[in-house]
Amino acid sequence: MLLLSPSPPAPAAAVTVPRRILLTPHRRLKATSTPPRLACLRLRPAAPLRGIPSKTGCRAAAADADAAPSQVPGGDGGVRGAMVRIGEALSLGFPVWVASACALALWRPPAFLWVGPTAQMLGLSFTMLGMGMTLTLDDLKTALLMPRELAAGFILQYTVGDGSTVLFWLDLWNDNSMQTKYPRLYTFAKNKNISVAQFLTSNTLEIQFHLPLSEQAYHEYQSLQDYLQTIQVQQEDKDTWQYIWGNNTYSSSKLYNLPYKNIQPPKPFIWIWDSKCCNKLRVFTWLLLMDRLITRNILKRKKLKLEGDNYNCVLCNRNMEETAFHLFFGCPFSQSCWQQLDIHWNLGADFFQMITQAKQQFSSTFFMEIFIIGAWQIWKQRNNFIFDRGRPSLVSWKQNFVEEARLQAHRLCDSKRATFLSSLGLQG
Ligand SMILES: [Zn+2]
Repeated sequence: MLLLSPSPPAPAAAVTVPRRILLTPHRRLKATSTPPRLACLRLRPAAPLRGIPSKTGCRAAAADADAAPSQVPGGDGGVRGAMVRIGEALSLGFPVWVASACALALWRPPAFLWVGPTAQMLGLSFTMLGMGMTLTLDDLKTALLMPRELAAGFILQYTVGDGSTVLFWLDLWNDNSMQTKYPRLYTFAKNKNISVAQFLTSNTLEIQFHLPLSEQAYHEYQSLQDYLQTIQVQQEDKDTWQYIWGNNTYSSSKLYNLPYKNIQPPKPFIWIWDSKCCNKLRVFTWLLLMDRLITRNILKRKKLKLEGDNYNCVLCNRNMEETAFHLFFGCPFSQSCWQQLDIHWNLGADFFQMITQAKQQFSSTFFMEIFIIGAWQIWKQRNNFIFDRGRPSLVSWKQNFVEEARLQAHRLCDSKRATFLSSLGLQG
């Protein structure tokens, strides 16, 4: 579920009866028993405003504040006259104030974070009160004569976005999973499968949560309220679902990259896959670096009983346990092999550091290919002894190494093949 950000096929009910909610960039989610969208409906009747002649409106508004404002001549220098003029300037400039505030909000959204739910409610109440005071009976009559426009204004309030197919807590929406963002609050949620639409329309503490909340949960609740006020929700008629990488095309490499793209493995792992060797050898080297080759040490760790409890290296007679590190780096037999290739290991260093240093000191750019083939042939010498009773020898290792190197050289382009072989003192 988390792989997908909003929106799988909508439930049948949601398709037949589309449920639209008002999701705007600065939607306020005051915990109130009245759904906010209804308040909007009442507060934004489109039709009545059209019928208001602005001059009349202003005078009417002033008339309420003052006993006889319309009688005050424009040039009157009295306090009343000044108040009326200021009132008129404020009223007439209202579209300018609103447009400026909108522009500012678009440019710098955080500048309006201080507008909390209470400030919003008070602001809207004053604005609507002012608008209501400018209405006359004639304006209401005019509005009622246009029922279609009035109805359209009512219905159109519902046409912004839809959160009915997205789970508020469990789905990943707006780049967040609320369950992981507010884990303590989540444990108090009454309905853990609530949709975003349902949650936003009844965002009330007592409806949504088992009370009382713990202190941490309450902090998270406050943080959630702040977050919900600042989210930028796309206005869409229907929820659309897509993969987390931003489109509807599935790709296994994108899926793989999702958890692993930020993980930086030690460099030698990258060099393995950058090398030109065949996959069999590359996988072998990967197992070696991961300490997953089935050496005797691994068999011991897997509780496999060997004859005579002998877990020692078979390439030397030093009674050393056959760990991957000993077998390929510490064993005298292996060391004489590496000497043939002029590869030197600083056995005291950190393992990956040791490989990095050896690569830096190596003269050829084909270090990784040569290392892989060399290690592979050491492994074959060891297996040859264990399974076929073949005697390990530097001569046969060298012979097999050259054979394998010539074989792997075919995977290189002509120019590189010549360089590779000549770096090993071989002819193309
Ligand atoms: Zn050994």
